[in-house]
This record gives sequence, C-alpha cells and structure tokens, in this order.
Amino acid sequence: MLREKSDNALYASGTQDRAAAAGEEGPAGRDVESAFFRATDGQGLGREDALLLLARAPTEALLQAASSVRERFHGRVISYSKKVFIPLTTLCRDYCGYCTFRKDPGEPGAHFMPPEEVLAAAKQARRAGCKEALFSLGDQPEKIFPEAREFLSRQGFERTLDYLAAMTELTMERTGLLPHANPGVMSAESMRRLRASNVSLGLMLENVSPRLMRAGAAHAEAPDKVPSLRLRTMEEAGRLRIPFTTGILIGIGETLTERVDSLIAIRDLHRRFGHIQEVIIQNFRAKPGIPMAAHPEPSEEEMLRTVAAARLILDGEMNLQAPPNLSYAAFPRLLEAGINDWGGISPVTRDFINPEAPWPEIARLRAATEARGLQLRERLAIYPEFARQPEFVCQTVQPNMEHWIDAEGYAREEGVSLAQGV
Ligand code: SF4
Repeated sequence: MLREKSDNALYASGTQDRAAAAGEEGPAGRDVESAFFRATDGQGLGREDALLLLARAPTEALLQAASSVRERFHGRVISYSKKVFIPLTTLCRDYCGYCTFRKDPGEPGAHFMPPEEVLAAAKQARRAGCKEALFSLGDQPEKIFPEAREFLSRQGFERTLDYLAAMTELTMERTGLLPHANPGVMSAESMRRLRASNVSLGLMLENVSPRLMRAGAAHAEAPDKVPSLRLRTMEEAGRLRIPFTTGILIGIGETLTERVDSLIAIRDLHRRFGHIQEVIIQNFRAKPGIPMAAHPEPSEEEMLRTVAAARLILDGEMNLQAPPNLSYAAFPRLLEAGINDWGGISPVTRDFINPEAPWPEIARLRAATEARGLQLRERLAIYPEFARQPEFVCQTVQPNMEHWIDAEGYAREEGVSLAQGV
C-alpha cells in the first residue's frame, strides 16, 4: 500500500531511498528466494513477486536471473538497428518536465522539416548503410501553434500526422529505407494510414500513473501523456496488427509500484494482441534548461535493477532494449541485466532527444557485446518474429522489407541495388 507523499518526495531518487519513502519494501509474507524460483521460468512475474524482487533482491542475483531468462529465450544474439533519426518537427503541444527536444516557435531549434530536407537526410543515411528511418516528432503542434498550421497548410495538410504519413511514404518510395514513426498519441485512422509506409510504429507508455499529471509533476503540462490515451493507442495498434515499440521512462517521480504496474500493463497488452515487438527501458537524464534540471537521475544500479526486473516481468520471448548512450561508459553492464537489443544506432545523426549523449559507435558496441560472449546482429525496424507473420506486414512495405531481410529475419549484408541512384 502506498503512503501519501508530498510532490518533493515524489522526486526522491535511489532504489533503497525510493522504496523506503514510498513504503515499498515489497509485500510482507513473501520471500525473495521463492520469488526468484518463480522468476526464472520466463512466464512473466506476478505483481507482488516483481515488486518484492525490485525492492529487496540483491542486485547480483537479480541480474543473474535476468541474464538466464534472456539466454533461454533469446540465445546469445543481441540485436541493433542501423538508423537515421529524422526529427520531423521539434514543435510540440506538450511540455514534459524532462524534455529538451521540444521547442516553441521562435526558439532556437524550432523547426518543421520540409520534404526536401527529409529526403536529403534519408538519402545520406541510405548511402551510409542505414536501413531504418526513425521519425520522431512533437505531438500535435497544430493544436496550439498557428506557425505549425501555416507550415502544414503550405504543404497541403491540416494535421501533423497526415504530413508525417506523406513523408514516410516519400522516404520509403525514394530511398528504400524502412520508416518507423514515433509521433505520440495516434487515432486508429492515423495508424491505418501510417501502417502503409511504416514497418512498425512506436509510442513510449512512459508510465501508467495518472499521478504524474498532477501540478508540479513530470507530465503536469502534457495532455498527451494521459496514460489511458497512450494505452488506447497501443491497444488500437494491436487490433490493426502493427508491430509496436513502447517502453517506460524511469526516474521521473514514479514509485516502484508504478514502474511494475507499467511493465505489467505492457505485458498484458502483448498477451491480448501479440504486437509489442520491443520494450524500451529508458532512464531520465537531467539536462540544463529543463524544468526537471535539478531532479536526481536514477543511479546506474537502479537502472540495472529495473532492466532486470523488466526481463522477469515480461514474458520471456519479448524483446527488451535499453539505449546504450544513456548509460555512458557503463553501457556494457546493461547486457548483464538481460537486454537482448541495443535499439537504433545511427552512423549519420546524433540523438536529438538526448543530444549530449553520443551513441557508442557500432565497433565499440560489437566489442562490448562480444566481450561477454554474445553476438551482435543487425536487425531491421521490424523484429524477425514479426517479419515472418504476414498479418504484421503491410503489402505496401513488404517489397522493401524483403530487399533487406535475410533468411532468419535479420538485416542482410549490404544490399546494393536500391542504393544505386540514391
Ligand atoms: S517528450 Fe515528447 S511529448 Fe513530451 S514535450 Fe518532449 S516532444 Fe513533446
């Protein structure tokens, strides 16, 4: 049972402190050893066991359990995707307390990319060997900014999501890259259109807690971060058979219980629709100039414990990712916590969401992976097990997907035919 806390207490950091502050030492009457026993079968931990292990299990034992589940269900392969990051617009109607990406019109960096800029970035990426075009953008800026409406109208659109669909179509047709858009909350109608030019779509759940919408909390000024809206988008994506990427952001004022509940919500959606192709565990990083600049970051240990708990909460076959660039020099330890994917790595663009944190280049990633006896393999923006299920692949993206895919569903070595003339 959670105790009531002040808003300041919500921002307490450090697993032990956070657990104690929240009264989250784990459910009484259950013991850690038997929870571990239930954890390692890969069937997805129950809520009480998960909370118990996250709050109380020794870190090394937690990591070992997670690694063994990863090994049983995913073998020794750790995947990544070679991508270009296309920040279609930095305008956004939300004001998340941790965001440095969004801008208001007139601020340095405020931008809407016109088609020629999108295409230039995609062509450059194509020449550099990328296969994924990751479109990230602010959420529905046209709802509050006349400047966004004017830009869209000059391009012949009323809504950012329609312009996005046109740009992912253009990118796929002209470069052969496989788009993956991550535009925020989407209606079923928008996803139906995006599906025709995106090999997968994404929306971070962030957290299921509506408490984070309260005054002073991370999502107080972010109407699109209402958890029920995001869960609904994820559910609609399941009905439409869209391979879907989601995840949680940790260290933004949530409790351990809310973290566990968020992971269980994702797992339950996957059990209903079978469409969650990857779950990302992202850690909050404080940056100058954001409302949460002074908010404590989760420690390396807290991140590792959460990733490991996620591996044990999710069903064993689910794909678990943590971005290496947000853990800096400690990134190889994420492998010990049971991830089986590093996410998108860009040889051509920096991470516009976390610009201060460069991605480890692919050679370093490979060295760190192989040093732990694991194998690095490039995948596409659709995971192998989804690429093999025809209902998850729209006919319009299939020819491009086939161009890039190998017999096992991973990326095949450099294709050349489409590269010519790009
Ligand atoms: S995190 Fe996303 S939704 Fe929130 S302010 Fe930034 S761009 Fe907008």
